[in-house]
Amino acid sequence: PQNDNIQVFIKDQLYPRKDAKISVFDSSVQGGDAVWEGLRVYPEGVVCLDKHLTRLHESAKTLAFVDIPSKDFIKDAIRQTLDANGMNDNTHIRLTLTRGEKITSGMDPRLNQSGSCLIVLAEWKPLVYDNDHGIKVISTSQRRNAPQFLDSKIHHNNLLNNIIAKIQANVAGKDAGLMLDERGFVAELNGSNVFMVKQGKVFTPFAHACLPGITRNSVMEMCDREGISLVEADLSLSQFYNADGVFATGTMGELTPIVEIDGRTIARDNELQKKIIRLYEKEVRQLCEKP
Ligand code: PMP
Repeated sequence: PQNDNIQVFIKDQLYPRKDAKISVFDSSVQGGDAVWEGLRVYPEGVVCLDKHLTRLHESAKTLAFVDIPSKDFIKDAIRQTLDANGMNDNTHIRLTLTRGEKITSGMDPRLNQSGSCLIVLAEWKPLVYDNDHGIKVISTSQRRNAPQFLDSKIHHNNLLNNIIAKIQANVAGKDAGLMLDERGFVAELNGSNVFMVKQGKVFTPFAHACLPGITRNSVMEMCDREGISLVEADLSLSQFYNADGVFATGTMGELTPIVEIDGRTIARDNELQKKIIRLYEKEVRQLCEKP
């Protein structure tokens, strides 16, 4: 399927791709001033839809947006967009809420007088990683934003921190950048969370400098239910190099084995890790909600 003729929802209606435009005065252009969610659609519905909408609302409230569309309005916009495009599988939705159009250029939120602007962009897209092969990563010199400077619990569009890390991974010829926090502990990858398995236990960094990912949360709840011991901790690179297994989690890659960190090989045949990945593959369909 092609994405050339897709319909995109902006503010309150659908536009063909070639007319799907927002103003140069929009807050996202003037300051990266927007919040977003990446959603995954299966025939059963949208994975963890309500949790994504809650995170979008909480991010928008933190940034003091006004006229934030209700969950019902956003669900309706998603339904309209999927229907208009005949999409129900292998679909990625990029949900963006900007602070809206400004009366002049500038950063000051008071220049926004027309309320926030919702964009629902649905595209045909397979999962980003080939889970059968796993990915190779490097630790980046670019650190993840520390919470005292920019709270990682806000899912905002100011992505330069992650983009610089991704550029470092690209230059090194690897798939993703593993970002440390300001103290030197592992935070997350440039676009996903990270877990490790060691001696029958699962570990993941505290949500200190990482996004509290929805997939991360689903894995934690699943481990809890299955009686698998899971610990949030401050974890060093050395612990990751010497783990029995390491995997990334995110809506667009789901659970992906990491097979190399900074040139050190990580095994991908750990039984517990394979079990968790298998369980999630089944569970993800049950986490879907119809918009
Ligand atoms: N970390 C970062 C920096 C991300 O951008 C994302 C995806 N938006 C994630 C983690 C994964 O979050 P989720 O499981 O909610 O998709």
